[in-house]
Amino acid sequence: MALPDTMTRPETRVPVVATAGVAVVGGGPAGIAAAVSAARNGAPTVLVERYPYLGGLASGGMVLVLDDMHNDTEISVRGLAMEMIERMHARGLCVYPPEADRDPAVRATEALWRKWSRWGVFDFHTRTKPHPVIFAAAFDPDGFKQASLDMVREAGVELRLHSWFQSAIVEDGRAAGVIVETKEGPQAIRAEVVIDATGDLDVAASAGAPFVDGSFIVTTVSRMGGVDTDAAERFQFEEPERFAEIDKQAKSLIGGCWQYWWLKTPLPGVVWCNCPHMTGFDGMKVADLTAAEFEGRRRMQALLEFARAHVPGFERAYVVDFAPQTGVRQTRLLEGEYVVTKRDVMDRVHFHDTVCRGRDYYTPYRALLPLGVEQVLVAGRHYSATPQAQKVSREIPPCMAMGEAAGIAAAQALDGGMTVRDVDVRAVQKRMRAQGADPGDIPAGNALVPEAA
Ligand SMILES: Cc1cc2nc3c(=O)[nH]c(=O)nc-3n(C[C@H](O)[C@H](O)[C@H](O)COP(=O)(O)OP(=O)(O)OC[C@H]3O[C@@H](n4cnc5c(N)ncnc54)[C@H](O)[C@@H]3O)c2cc1C
Repeated sequence: MALPDTMTRPETRVPVVATAGVAVVGGGPAGIAAAVSAARNGAPTVLVERYPYLGGLASGGMVLVLDDMHNDTEISVRGLAMEMIERMHARGLCVYPPEADRDPAVRATEALWRKWSRWGVFDFHTRTKPHPVIFAAAFDPDGFKQASLDMVREAGVELRLHSWFQSAIVEDGRAAGVIVETKEGPQAIRAEVVIDATGDLDVAASAGAPFVDGSFIVTTVSRMGGVDTDAAERFQFEEPERFAEIDKQAKSLIGGCWQYWWLKTPLPGVVWCNCPHMTGFDGMKVADLTAAEFEGRRRMQALLEFARAHVPGFERAYVVDFAPQTGVRQTRLLEGEYVVTKRDVMDRVHFHDTVCRGRDYYTPYRALLPLGVEQVLVAGRHYSATPQAQKVSREIPPCMAMGEAAGIAAAQALDGGMTVRDVDVRAVQKRMRAQGADPGDIPAGNALVPEAA
């Protein structure tokens, strides 16, 4: 007898374990900001996360530079992203260049390049070399986890870790909460507004919102310890030709990476490797994610052996850890009320309903609003953008800024007894500014009133 290839799951009664005004699903950068922002604005808020820690790719993915938060010499993302930086900095777990080193008179000099480039705090979008030093922050993953827990606790958010989102509860076309899987079995969380911050659009897709499937390179990020970074930098800057030859060989072993395959971290002797770039893996497929772990480790092991033998400073290097989360940059993307295009990002198009900024681009509130379902907001790397636009507008600080704006909008909708679609965007902008964020309502370099609706 042939075995069935599908099975029916029996219906189960699901206990309601929490009731809130706002349920945020996904405790990554966008979700932390959304939950803290909603709670600080008075909304009873629940934050759901599948893993035992907060931070998403920033901590579990060990993505250790907060960038895309500067527009030339101006800091374009502030608010909760900046608060996170300051909290980590106070514990000695975050490093960023002081204002004096970002001064236009010195920031693109060889001396400053040598001082800061191995921290990854330079503007790689410029064609000129050396690239100018900009405001960006190198941090420790556990520092991010701790600061996130502190912020969530202080804001009074009800945090539910170890809870995997399973399905959206939708009643009469409105989201009414979520069902999660836990060790205790399925649990229901009821809420009036649900913010999807899963990065993969799990909630909005489950609720029936339209989306497109995107994909991009995948990376198993790792850290190496026992590195004499001073010796490695001396080699780079004092023997540039030999360095270039050896660096080329090192990169060819891993088959693709950015300009630098290692960067410094706040922990002495520990570097992070934001590589290799691996293509052909679907970040939504179990088999692909499993295969990526094997492939990433194989490539990085080869790199480690090569570095020990040939790169000054790496003679005694060892693997500290591979990131517990696979580095997936892009999967499902919302097709919301407005879909941001690459042109919008590159041409710095400003929208009447801009609620936050990234490097030098703007995000309209409509790009956080799904079609086809009410009372859902989306914040983070799965926001409504074309796959090409998302590739250049998905860094951690802009995702946090989206979360901050979404949290405010959700709280204001509850307060005003309206849907999140009907929220007054000018009130969201005003509140963003009041809490120290930059809503991008005034285009950069333009002191005039915001563009009319
Ligand atoms: C390898 C790599 C290098 C990068 N380099 C940089 C860089 O140098 N600087 C920079 O600023 N950005 C960088 N990025 C981009 C940046 O890390 C992400 O775009 C950003 O973290 C997105 O934040 P997010 O909150 O939208 O999503 P995520 O960080 O993916 O967080 C999503 C959260 O939701 C949780 N979640 C997902 N599904 C469920 C579920 N079903 N149930 C419960 N919880 C769930 C996850 O566990 C996670 O905590 C990089 C990304 C990668 C992968």
